[in-house]
Amino acid sequence: MYHEDRFKTRYCSSFENPEQCVYGPFCSFVHNEKEFRISLLHRKAQDSHFFMFEYKTVMCPFTAAHDRLHCAYAHNQQDFRRRVVTNNKLQYQANDCKHWKKF
Ligand SMILES: [Zn+2]
Ligand SMILES: [Zn+2]
Repeated sequence: MYHEDRFKTRYCSSFENPEQCVYGPFCSFVHNEKEFRISLLHRKAQDSHFFMFEYKTVMCPFTAAHDRLHCAYAHNQQDFRRRVVTNNKLQYQANDCKHWKKF
């Protein structure tokens, strides 16, 4: 859990009461949201830009049981989406396709 890809990327199970964490200042989990080394998707506005570029691009920081179906984070590699890179060649836009049929 001290690897740079994992360190301070998930909530500590003692997040609500950090003084109860047995690892104290050496804990690899987060006691305060300012410690996070990932983008906190659940704190962002969920507009079309969010669903195009950020939805499911970060592994879930929640350790407690929660509603995974409606969670903005990825929970496994099948769930994970690559981060869309825009440049001069790839002009992705969060616009509906003109052929998309709305019912
Ligand atoms: Zn802790
Ligand atoms: Zn989740």
